[in-house]
Amino acid sequence: MLDIAAKEPGRTRQIKAICRMCHGGCGTVVTVENGVVAKVVGDPDNPINRGKLCAKAGRASIEQLYHPGRIDRPLMRVGEKGGGQWRPVGWDEAVAFVADKMLAIKDRFGAEAVAFARGVSINNNQIITRLANAFGTPNIASINYYCYGPRVAACSATSSGRHSGRLWDTVAIADFYSAPNCIVEWGSQKRISNDHGLIGHIPMTDALRRGPVSIVVDPRKPAAAGPGDLWLPLRPGTDAAMALAWINVIIEEELYDRGFVRDWCHGFEALKERAGSYSPEHVADITWCDAAAIRAAARAYARTKPATIAWGTGVDHIGLNAVQSNRAIHLLMGLTGNLDAPGGNCFWPAPLLADTERWDLLPPEQAAKRLGAERFKALTARPTVYAHPPSVFRAILTEQPYPVKAMIVIGNNPAVCYPKTASVVAALKKLELLVVSEIFMTPTASLADLVLPAAANLERDDPRLYMHIKGPGGTFMDTSTRSAVTVGERRSDWDFVVRLGQALGYREHFPSVEGFVAEALEPMGIGWDALKQRDYVVEPMRYWKYREDGFGTPTGKFELWSTTFEAWGYDPLPAHVEPAESPLRTPALFAQFPLILNTGVRSPFYWNSNGHPLPTLRRLQPAPLLEIHPDTAAEYGLTDKRDAWVETRSGRLRLRVRVNPMTHPKIVSIPHGWWQPDARAPEHGIFEVCSNVLTDDDPDQCDVILGSSPLKALLCRVYPAGPRDGDTEGRNA
Ligand code: SF4
Repeated sequence: MLDIAAKEPGRTRQIKAICRMCHGGCGTVVTVENGVVAKVVGDPDNPINRGKLCAKAGRASIEQLYHPGRIDRPLMRVGEKGGGQWRPVGWDEAVAFVADKMLAIKDRFGAEAVAFARGVSINNNQIITRLANAFGTPNIASINYYCYGPRVAACSATSSGRHSGRLWDTVAIADFYSAPNCIVEWGSQKRISNDHGLIGHIPMTDALRRGPVSIVVDPRKPAAAGPGDLWLPLRPGTDAAMALAWINVIIEEELYDRGFVRDWCHGFEALKERAGSYSPEHVADITWCDAAAIRAAARAYARTKPATIAWGTGVDHIGLNAVQSNRAIHLLMGLTGNLDAPGGNCFWPAPLLADTERWDLLPPEQAAKRLGAERFKALTARPTVYAHPPSVFRAILTEQPYPVKAMIVIGNNPAVCYPKTASVVAALKKLELLVVSEIFMTPTASLADLVLPAAANLERDDPRLYMHIKGPGGTFMDTSTRSAVTVGERRSDWDFVVRLGQALGYREHFPSVEGFVAEALEPMGIGWDALKQRDYVVEPMRYWKYREDGFGTPTGKFELWSTTFEAWGYDPLPAHVEPAESPLRTPALFAQFPLILNTGVRSPFYWNSNGHPLPTLRRLQPAPLLEIHPDTAAEYGLTDKRDAWVETRSGRLRLRVRVNPMTHPKIVSIPHGWWQPDARAPEHGIFEVCSNVLTDDDPDQCDVILGSSPLKALLCRVYPAGPRDGDTEGRNA
């Protein structure tokens, strides 16, 4: 039953709201009739989307707002975990319950026994971190470790460093607004998705319409890419080798920016020597690409000015060598003079916000207990200070190196989004306390002791403190959606965290939501009310910032040779490292699993594990698809639009086949984030459709610097699926 609190009989009003059905950034105009949101259309005045919206906004956003499956009040578990029996409780009782349990666990096991988990930031980073720091736990499990974090770690070590979040944004982002004449799509699907504040579907489409030189480095070619594109369908996990081959050509043929190298680079001679062993001919063997095509791509990228690289999760997900592979790509941006240059890859300026995370509250002896950080050193350095999620779930199960007894999950769906589904589910079930703030009863929420009703798009309006929008002319600082209506007892993450902070006894750090906002915005010289009156505030673009600010690295230079990685005991230069499973590293396994699996194919309809309950989106994409080259499908007896099994050494899934001639014949691709809201609780079909059934949580296979998990470059086999055999056939052992 809907409980619409903001009834305004007989009144129609229109408001502008920044869409938050994904990371956000597109402008919308929302019509509210009699207190009910009736229509959401694109805002033609917004310079980012100019009136256009993707499928996740519009009708789907209204469905999300009023869906009968939304959680509308706090629900306390009664009976067995995962049994689906709940008792509605008030917010005061719910928050007091969480605080009491957290303090009791802290007394028995230490603050580190309480972990937080958060997903792709829906603007709750800073406030969750402040609460964790005040409480004394170093364990925030963040999806960042395999999504964007590897690019953050690469850029932070190489260039942005101490400027991150203060003067500059951390990562060098494609500047589609300044007419790049060469666009490289490297492991990125930004034509249909977006990330880190860069809306892909409008600015990139516009930039591509100008007809730039187009290079695609990806085993799948985007459907919209044209025949004129130069396509390098590389073997997954060989990105560093590919980038080093480009560097080899660029240095050998003296195509690099001599002035930038002379004045701003640290370690050029060492890089030259390293790249010398990566000739295109040698790298052709590693990457399964053509040497002449590698050479042509390197020349085109270096000679065409300006040139930009759209990079994405494709490289973040390769496991062992993810950070260094991203670093090799980042080095290309600097060497060719495309760094922080119009139409190249730029650090958008950071809005002048207060540092609200309060790291000073976390005692050093507690920080030293961060799970996984002893091994993965980038987890000790801002801006990637998180626990290693697979190590957190392992600690829950094994109580090693110490017990973890509670998890407070805010805007995250670990049962779907973290590797090795069966282990994550077992860990969630074992917790003494699982609290989940969510909008739908997800597979994670279904296992909780307490579920809290979260406000989402069009129900909240916090100032955006993170993942600011990279717009034309500067960084857009806005409020994250608008509080257009109030439904049920849903509350924003900020409201929950402030209440919990107060109940735990930290009122001085959590005086109120308004107090937190005022503190955050104070350096900008604008209040919350004033910000809400504006669509956004623009922090103007500055190009070539390093000429004034220097680079944020220890040497103040663009570090081809990373002194940070050297100090941590890692290779200071990028190199090719075979994926943990590969034809070369594990030939015996390859004999059994002769194809390479990439999970994480992006969809224009779903944002990670969001959107699956919404009818409009389910009509557009009812099920996850297994993409495979038609010749490979024929070789293994698979038929388009029929079911097939895809199996790794971790598990198997039964999925519908989609043949795609624009994919490398040795590669199988599947999407991530799938669950089935209508399937039986608590699992909601994850063992039938979730890609992480096929992945592993082994720290030995994770990136050596940040710990990101291998979600791509896995070995697999495929075979036809017979007729369905009851409801257990697709289930994994
Ligand atoms: S791309 Fe994201 S912000 Fe833009 S309309 Fe789609 S869901 Fe909304």
